[in-house]
Amino acid sequence: MSNRRDFLRTSLLATSALALPRLSRAATAALSVSGKVPGGVGARVVSTWDFGVPANQAAWTVLGNGGHPLDAVETGVLVPEADLRNHSVGRAGYPDRDGKVTLDASIMDGDGRCGAVAALEHIAHPIKVARKVMEDTPHVLLVGDGALEFALQEGFKKEDLLTPESAKAWHEWLKTAKYTPVANSENLDYHRTVQNLGMPGGKNNHDTIGMLAVDAHGRLAGACTTSGMAWKLHGRVGDSPIIGAGLYVDNEVGAATSTGVGEEVIRNAGSFLVVELMRQGRSPQQACEEAVHRIVKKRPEATKDMQVGFLALNRDGECGAYAIQKGFTYAVCDVQQQDRLIASPSLYQTTYT
Ligand code: ASP
Repeated sequence: MSNRRDFLRTSLLATSALALPRLSRAATAALSVSGKVPGGVGARVVSTWDFGVPANQAAWTVLGNGGHPLDAVETGVLVPEADLRNHSVGRAGYPDRDGKVTLDASIMDGDGRCGAVAALEHIAHPIKVARKVMEDTPHVLLVGDGALEFALQEGFKKEDLLTPESAKAWHEWLKTAKYTPVANSENLDYHRTVQNLGMPGGKNNHDTIGMLAVDAHGRLAGACTTSGMAWKLHGRVGDSPIIGAGLYVDNEVGAATSTGVGEEVIRNAGSFLVVELMRQGRSPQQACEEAVHRIVKKRPEATKDMQVGFLALNRDGECGAYAIQKGFTYAVCDVQQQDRLIASPSLYQTTYT
């Protein structure tokens, strides 16, 4: 897969190149003469971290054939949820400090419909449950045992999500039993020395996947799913299932998602903030930068060693990203440039230790 990637370490200008969407005949007929949304770059999928590359490819099988962005993002994030090699999303996610794997996920359509689950145990695909919450209930968010009960009623299978590898990493952590939940752990040097034990920081360990998609009509959707911080307190919920924090989508403007320390994102209603800044005229890039600056300005000391990253996409298909710390990457997929992984610019150019 890596030889398919064009890992750009430079500016995000590369992401704004024009791209014509590959669409079904029916969808193409509905487009303007140019085959693009006026002013837009066409259909595009973006998502956080390197596991976004295969996830985007799965999403593109839907979006690139004229499917709805909501179906595309759900299909896309199923890939890392099922991947046993990553320990921060879905099955095989690292557990909380009690050894329980608890998952958070949300999904949102650009028309305002949304659904989410938080602290959900035993269900391998929380994003599917989030979509059921959206479609089969009058609610937005179900948590803990209630979310599990609902999932079982909906026909989901109860499973043990703690893999032997994740259990081993948890036991390793228990040796110190220091309560230090870890997010964006790939930047922590001390973990690299023990990555062969499956600790955070291993090659395939990245955090939340947040995925945003726009089709050639300017319709948007987003999905966000994670096992959250490794070794967190049981019951801790991050930003990912909170609409407006980890994810926000509005067809009138654009969409945003986040990764990193969820508490900081929740405090600042991060994804909502990014979308509202775009509504006021900022580009996706400018909006992500301003949101990061806002977070850092509010708690400069606390956020010095902390990672938060935002990814945004507007209804014209233009995208942008920004993070506090170096190391945040995101994947972009559209028909002209296919899929690629891009290094996000950041406020601090040094990784934290
Ligand atoms: N935002 C996630 C959380 O706080 C974790 C991450 O993306 O690093 O649960």
